[in-house]
Amino acid sequence: MTTSEPSSGYVGRFAPSPTGPLHFGSLLAAAASYLEAKAAHGRWLVRIEDIDPPREPPGADTEILRALEHYGFAWDGPVLYQSREAARHRALVEALVSRGAAYACGCSRRALAGARRGPLGIIYPGTCRNGTRARRTAIRVRTTDAPITFDDRLQGRQTQRLESESGDFVILRRDGLIAYQLAVVADDAAQGVTEVVRGIDLLDSTPRQIHLQRLLGLRTPAYAHFPIAVNARGEKLGKSTGAPAVSLGDPRPLLLALLRALGQSVPADLGSASLASIWAFATRHWDPGGLAGRRQVLWMPEKIGYR
Ligand code: GLU
Repeated sequence: MTTSEPSSGYVGRFAPSPTGPLHFGSLLAAAASYLEAKAAHGRWLVRIEDIDPPREPPGADTEILRALEHYGFAWDGPVLYQSREAARHRALVEALVSRGAAYACGCSRRALAGARRGPLGIIYPGTCRNGTRARRTAIRVRTTDAPITFDDRLQGRQTQRLESESGDFVILRRDGLIAYQLAVVADDAAQGVTEVVRGIDLLDSTPRQIHLQRLLGLRTPAYAHFPIAVNARGEKLGKSTGAPAVSLGDPRPLLLALLRALGQSVPADLGSASLASIWAFATRHWDPGGLAGRRQVLWMPEKIGYR
C-alpha cells in the first residue's frame, strides 16, 4: 500500500530483517516509527534488510509486508530490498579500503575466541591492522578512541569510545556478505532518512553507524530508540524466544494493545472504530514522552508493564 500525502522534510523508515514473520516486538517497532513519521507529516519507508540469506526463510519478506498491510500501515514509495544494493554497498567498502580507513582481516572466529569481551561482544584487538597473509578475509573499519556522542530523543545522551569498546569492526564479512552496520548506514543515507526510530537493542550500534557516516561524509540522522517488548523472563520477543507471528484476524485488538504498550491512552470505545480511524486517532494524539528512559515493555497478552 502506498500513499502520496504532502510531506514535511521528515523521512522515517521501518527496516525489518526477513528472518521470520512479523511478531509483536517487530510490530511495536514498526508502529513507533510509523506514528513518529505520521505525526510529523513525514514520509515513512519500508526497507527489507535481506543481507543474510542463510537466516531468511523464503517468503518471509512478503509475509511481513502482508502483515503490515493487514494492520493498516501505508508506506511511501517502493519497498527497498537491500540485497539489490550490493554493488553500491561494496563500492563504499572499497572506497574505505582504498583510503586506508578499512583493511582486510584474516582472523577466524576461533582466532578471536580468547580476545577480551565487552558489552558489545568481542573487542577486536587489532591483530590485522598492519596486514594479513590470510586468503579469506573480512574487511574491518578502523576506529579510534575519540568519544562518539549523540543525543537520543528517548534515551538521552549516549557516548562510546569505539576502539576500546568494540575495536575495529566488520563491514564486509568473510563469507562475502555485507555487514549490517555498513548496509544500514548506506541505505539510510541513500533513502534520505532523517529520523531513525527503532528498538533499544540497536542503541549501542548507533555510535558505530555514526562513525561510518562520518568516514563516508554522510549526514547523521536523528535517533529515537524505543523500549523493546520482552516476555515475563525479560527476554526480547523474537524468533529465538519463540514469539508467535501476529495474527491475521481482526487487527484492532492487537493494534490497541500496541498503542497502550507505546504508552498511549486509548479510549475504551476506540476498539469498535475502523482501522483507519484508530490510526488517525493515534497519530493525532501521539506522545511518546512517557517512554523516555524506558528500556523494556513487558508484553503479556493481558498485562503491560515497563522497566
Ligand atoms: N534490520 C534490523 C532488524 O530487523 C533493524 C535495522 C534498523 O532499524 O536499523 O533488527
